[in-house]
Amino acid sequence: MPQTVYKLSQDTINQMKKHYAKFLTTPPQGAVFRAKTPEAVITAYKSGKVMFQGAAPDKASQKWVTEAVTSYKSVNHKRQPSAHGFAPDPTLFAKSHIGTDEAGTGDYFGPITVAGVYLNKQQIQQLQDIGVTDSKALTDAKIRQLASTIMKLQIPYSLLILHNEKYNQLQKKGWSQGKMKAMLHQHVIGNLVKKIGNVSLEGIVIDQFCEPAIYQRHIRSENLSLISNTYFLTKAESYSTPVAAGSIIARASFLKEMDSLSEQVGIELPKGASKKVDQTIAKIINANGESILHKLAKTHFANTKKARNYL
Ligand code: MN
Repeated sequence: MPQTVYKLSQDTINQMKKHYAKFLTTPPQGAVFRAKTPEAVITAYKSGKVMFQGAAPDKASQKWVTEAVTSYKSVNHKRQPSAHGFAPDPTLFAKSHIGTDEAGTGDYFGPITVAGVYLNKQQIQQLQDIGVTDSKALTDAKIRQLASTIMKLQIPYSLLILHNEKYNQLQKKGWSQGKMKAMLHQHVIGNLVKKIGNVSLEGIVIDQFCEPAIYQRHIRSENLSLISNTYFLTKAESYSTPVAAGSIIARASFLKEMDSLSEQVGIELPKGASKKVDQTIAKIINANGESILHKLAKTHFANTKKARNYL
C-alpha cells in the first residue's frame, strides 16, 4: 500500500480533524486521529507526523502540505518585511530561476552541504506535483526519496560538501561559519550557471542566512562578486521551488554523509548539538581518542568542551 508521511503543525492537524469529521475511526495508540476516506487512510500522531496511506495518498496529502505552507507564508509576510534591496519580486517564483540552500550548519557532527537547483517554468510545476516543498515539513525518508527522484529527472543542480577536516582548518584560519556558507553558496551558483549554459535564467534566490551586505563582504574578500539578479530571502524554501529542491538535495547529502561517518566510527552520530551529542562525543573519545573528532565534527562548537562532563 503506497504511503507518504509529513510533519505538519498542530494547527493543521486540528483543521484536518475537523475537515475529516465524517470519516473518523478509532485511532491507534499515540494517534490524535485516524480518518478513513475513499482516497486514503490518514493517521495524525502527537509528534506532528501525519501518515497518508491507501489508493491515492499523495492526492490527500497535497492539500494539507500546501495549506501548511500557505498559512506559514502569510504569517511570515507580516513578520518580515524585507528591509534590504535584495528581495525578489514574487513573480520570479513562477519563472526560470536558481535557488540555493544549505544543511548541517547547526549540527556538531557532519559536514556542511550546499546545493543549488535550476528549474524552468515546467519543472517548477513538475516538482511541486511530486511533493517538493519546504524540507522542514518532510521526514528524512521522504527527503531521500525526493532527492533521488530529482536526480533521476536530470534536473541541473550543483552540490558542494565542506567536510569536517577542511571546515576545522578554515575555522582555525579565522573564517566564520558565515563566510564558509557564503563561499559555498557562491561557488554552487557559479558551477550551476556554467552548467546550464545559455538557457533562460530570470534570477537567483539564496535562502538568506545573513544580511546581503555581509554576504557580499565575505565573497569579495575572496575575489568573488554577485552575479546579476541575485536575491536574498529568508524562509525562501516556502516560496521558491528551486530553493526547496536545493534544500532537499543538501539535506539528503548531509544524511548520507552522516550515515557514512557513523559507519566509519561505529557509533550512530546524532544530529543537532544537544546533550545527546555531548554524551556521544565522550563515547568516541573513550574509544578512539580526541583527534578523530577533526574528521567527524565542527570541533569549535561548545559541545567539545561540554563532553568532558561525561568522560
Ligand atoms: Mn536555509
